[in-house]
Amino acid sequence: MSTEQDAFYNLLKEATDVSKPQVSITLLEDSEEVFVGSYFLQTIDMKDISAVGTSRDFVSSSGLLAHEIKEQILYQRGGFKGDFGKDHNNAILTGENLVNGSIRMPDIPSPSFRLVNSYDKTFSNGKVGKVELYSGLLNFQYHYGGKINTISLLIEKNNIIGLY
Ligand SMILES: [Zn+2]
Repeated sequence: MSTEQDAFYNLLKEATDVSKPQVSITLLEDSEEVFVGSYFLQTIDMKDISAVGTSRDFVSSSGLLAHEIKEQILYQRGGFKGDFGKDHNNAILTGENLVNGSIRMPDIPSPSFRLVNSYDKTFSNGKVGKVELYSGLLNFQYHYGGKINTISLLIEKNNIIGLY
């Protein structure tokens, strides 16, 4: 296996380690409510994951999936404290980056990315919350081997419909 494949294997081993508290994640086929993954709903939208694909340098579906799984390991085994910012950053460093074989840089501006609608909803786990729908181009920068690449995801109401 490549170093990146090894990292993904090890992450799944960690998530399914029966000697530790169980990590439970709901996978949705295609969700408007969830953009890639919802930390608090412990949910991943598999259509958003697959939209990123495997054809690009710096980013991949597996890197995105690794990010969401690592975030849930940290959230759930950390006692559901809900320190999203901390768990999100750790998921980038110890999940996404290792599986992508690149380094995700700090967030950059995404001027066209905006809230287009919101509504209240009772989710399948019983939690009530606000669904916020976002559209526009969401920009990221990744670094590898002295190169920096900007990747833009085209989002239409929380669904990834393009990658540039
Ligand atoms: Zn995150």
